[in-house]
Amino acid sequence: MSEKRVIVAIDGPAGAGKSTVAKEVAERLGYLHVDSGAMYRAVALMAVENDIDPSDHNKLVPLASHADIVLRAGTVLLNGRDVTAEIRLPAVSQAASRVSAIPGVRRALVALQQDYANESSVVMEGRDIGTVVYPHAQVKIYLDASPEIRARRRVADEGGDYERVLCEIRERDDRDATRPDSPLRQAEDAHFLDSSGMDLEQVITEVLRIVRSKTSNGRGVTS
Ligand code: C5P
Repeated sequence: MSEKRVIVAIDGPAGAGKSTVAKEVAERLGYLHVDSGAMYRAVALMAVENDIDPSDHNKLVPLASHADIVLRAGTVLLNGRDVTAEIRLPAVSQAASRVSAIPGVRRALVALQQDYANESSVVMEGRDIGTVVYPHAQVKIYLDASPEIRARRRVADEGGDYERVLCEIRERDDRDATRPDSPLRQAEDAHFLDSSGMDLEQVITEVLRIVRSKTSNGRGVTS
């Protein structure tokens, strides 16, 4: 009998709390944490820095295919350069949701994302992890919260004007959910979790409970 690697897929819209929850759950289980959005952000940063229209697939598909994007212990390296802070800039967030609508960019990044499960058990967060990247993940969570709550959390964390942040969240939700390739949607076999009335610790506890109920106490399903 051997222990199988466990894949925990956490999908949901911007600001639902995926990053904090995924990071903490991974740490408590001893799994690798992979923030797939950081990869789209890295490609978006290349577009912004090189003055490329974030919808220009002719330029961005080759760039994404040849980019060296490494996620390691909370830092993001793009072609060897630490871009952890730059990829969080508001202009990059908006460009990321445009870049991520390009099918060729998605293909390149999905291949990188799938490689991570060869290394160890993972908690991967994104928009299409349970539907496209790992459709056979043992645990799938769809984490949601109302746009107003998500905007309020963003403003509390990062500052900014509430109305503007709410408008940007709605715009991003709309683009992510309506793009033809891998739109944001809940996988049929995902657990739906509305974090609107929950604090982070409650969400983490609930995700850990789901993981443990689906696996041998988080250690993988034996076969
Ligand atoms: O998760 P985060 O907000 O950092 O992701 C940035 C953008 O990357 C999202 O708005 C979304 O458009 C895109 N994304 C995606 N698929 C993923 C992860 C992120 O399309 N798996």
